[in-house]
Amino acid sequence: MELESEIKELGKRLRGISFRREARYTLSYGFDATGRRGWCDAVVFPRGLDDLQKTVFEARRIGVPLFMRGAGTGFSGGSVPCGGVVVSTEKMNRVLEMDTEARTVTVEAGIVNNDLQEYLEPRGFFYPPDPASFRVSTIGGNIAENAGGPRAYKYGVTRRYVRSMVWIDSGGEVIESAQRGPAALLIGAEGTLGAIYSVRMRVLPRPEVFRTVLVAAGEDGEAMNTASALLATGFTPSVLEFIDSKTMRCVSEYRKLSGIDRGSSCLFFEMDGSPEDVDTQYGLLSSFCDNHGLGMLTARDDGERDILWELRRSVSPSLARMGITKINEDISLPLGGLGEAVSWIHRLASELELDCYIFGHCGDGNLHVNIMTDRRRSAEIKRAMVFVDRLFTRVAEMGGALSGEHGIGMAKKDFLGLVFSPAELELQYGIMRAMDPENIFNPGKYFDPGGA
Ligand SMILES: Cc1cc2nc3c(=O)[nH]c(=O)nc-3n(C[C@H](O)[C@H](O)[C@H](O)COP(=O)(O)OP(=O)(O)OC[C@H]3O[C@@H](n4cnc5c(N)ncnc54)[C@H](O)[C@@H]3O)c2cc1C
Repeated sequence: MELESEIKELGKRLRGISFRREARYTLSYGFDATGRRGWCDAVVFPRGLDDLQKTVFEARRIGVPLFMRGAGTGFSGGSVPCGGVVVSTEKMNRVLEMDTEARTVTVEAGIVNNDLQEYLEPRGFFYPPDPASFRVSTIGGNIAENAGGPRAYKYGVTRRYVRSMVWIDSGGEVIESAQRGPAALLIGAEGTLGAIYSVRMRVLPRPEVFRTVLVAAGEDGEAMNTASALLATGFTPSVLEFIDSKTMRCVSEYRKLSGIDRGSSCLFFEMDGSPEDVDTQYGLLSSFCDNHGLGMLTARDDGERDILWELRRSVSPSLARMGITKINEDISLPLGGLGEAVSWIHRLASELELDCYIFGHCGDGNLHVNIMTDRRRSAEIKRAMVFVDRLFTRVAEMGGALSGEHGIGMAKKDFLGLVFSPAELELQYGIMRAMDPENIFNPGKYFDPGGA
């Protein structure tokens, strides 16, 4: 859509707010971690509530679409623009208030998850949702995607921690609502319903101790049975992650780690709490591993704990060496079906001659299925598309979800019909029409223009 005169007009009306049209901005803010490239006519950098409110109000009056953007680490094309203006939250990154008695913290949406953690740590608190992108991704992006992470097994995902929000609706009104009000709709809405300015979030006292362990769990499908058998003993870790054997080989070579069985899939655990609780949990885990002949690698101090966490967090970057194009699907499945699903997915990938790596937050039923390929090999890309189609069909048959945490964005909108009935889609689209009748916020995401 040609918007030149509208963009110029918007720039004039937003005088005093950083509004950039140079190519170095419009190009660098046109992509996310999927590698998808969009384009925009300008990037605006509000510095607070007034700037954000004015941006939405004027854009709506002139008819310019807005694409909210945190750090652009999204894995579904959610912040990728298609014309219009990108609203970057990076200058709205302050902690506004901490209430230690109520155990809440209020922050602007652009604060980076890790900066919040660093603010909370010396005060004896932590914010549990910890997407593996936590060093870069923003709280606004985490809320818009309802982000999860390794600790979700014990602590749940972002939605559980939002107490209230200040946001701008599509008419440019500032709204303050509690989590049980309309703000609940914004969590996981992928920037399609409103612009989040600030959030009051619940935080928890920091656990006294942590113990982190990597367990060699044999063949890929078997690891899930091991995890289920372990949980049946009363073992309750805070983190329960799965890394398949191919991914394990890849990441341990990348991090140059020794002492790890590279031929085996792994389960990654962390226990936290009081020293007594953690000792009890660790006792359950080590006697289970002894009885089943499973190798364990236990971090003996904070330094070794950091090494094990770096290994887990390096999984995604390590795969980059295996192909220049990563097709990354984050399916979610009922827990009992995970073992069978992992074996089925690997069989499908080898039938289609594709290079497949699986890992994820298995305690939460969330698996990341990655095909490493090269977009220039068109026959292989076609086979990868067949793979994705069959994968999602299987997920729907098993009663799973297309996305555990990365969202629908641009990447999965064509598959919504597999998991939602036409009536359900129409209902969701109706909410969007009611909250954003002129489709100002993030058009082209989740739903195709024109509706469900
Ligand atoms: C290496 C790597 C590891 C990852 N690991 C995880 C993981 O463990 N768990 C997980 O859940 N995700 C993970 N992700 C995906 C991604 O980091 C999350 O989706 C994250 O929440 C996105 O935050 P962001 O600030 O980068 O948002 P962006 O990518 O900039 O935006 C994401 C969406 O949020 C919307 N948005 C952003 N800010 C606002 C706002 N203020 N108001 C309204 N809408 C807004 C955007 O329009 C877009 O739709 C990972 C990504 C990478 C690259």
